[in-house]
Amino acid sequence: MLVKKLLLLCSLLLVSVISIGQNFDKLREKMVKEQLEDRGIKSPDVLHAMRTVERHLFVPTSRRTYAYEDGPQPIGEGQTISQPYIVAFMTEALQLRPTDLVLEIGTGSGYQAAILGKLCREVYTIEIVPSLGQHSDSLLHALGFSNIHVRVGDGYAGWPEMAPFDAIIVTCSPSQIPLPLQDQLKEGGRLIIPVGDKGIQHLVLLTKQKGKIKQQRKLAVLFVPMKDKDGKRY
Ligand code: SAH
Repeated sequence: MLVKKLLLLCSLLLVSVISIGQNFDKLREKMVKEQLEDRGIKSPDVLHAMRTVERHLFVPTSRRTYAYEDGPQPIGEGQTISQPYIVAFMTEALQLRPTDLVLEIGTGSGYQAAILGKLCREVYTIEIVPSLGQHSDSLLHALGFSNIHVRVGDGYAGWPEMAPFDAIIVTCSPSQIPLPLQDQLKEGGRLIIPVGDKGIQHLVLLTKQKGKIKQQRKLAVLFVPMKDKDGKRY
């Protein structure tokens, strides 16, 4: 375990040195300007987080040069890191405050969790593929995110021991909104989730007011499916 962590730290150091040559800072600034600001992302806090988190560290080494492109990128195990605009859009919709407790379902690369980690108090994130969950956990620790807690398991049931949450973000797509997640939302809380068929989904924003759930349909999107331990889609 220690050897693995040391190796990860060394590779991060190496990437930082190589990054200077590749000018990832400039690419990230261009991404924020053209893909986020020009398309209507306004929250200064969200824009700051997207400027600060080094997205290229969350993609496989062979994909680093594509990390700031305007689309999702493969992260291994058949999964993807979401398009930067979608990460920013979903984060902005949650209207996070620095005191918030947030739950994420679908840790994947850990990038969305890192953005959340910059904006709120604690992030609890669940990933069903063990190798992805373990890698993100080590990476986020190596990058100093002590307020992000990664669990390997099925996120359908949420994280009841830590509930209720101020905000919940789901980055894999079920056909229906899981009831346990609605139950784990605090009064006044926000939940954003891509719901629909395998081929097309919509982001739905739920808010809980006076115990009642209000739903708003947002963008059409395409996320990887939310699956159970046997690989069956929810
Ligand atoms: N937020 C991620 C994007 C991940 S893609 C990022 O920033 O990189 C969606 C992830 O959801 C995949 O890694 C997939 O393995 C995971 N997933 C699918 N079904 C799940 C479930 N039931 N519980 C937890 N994670 C799940």
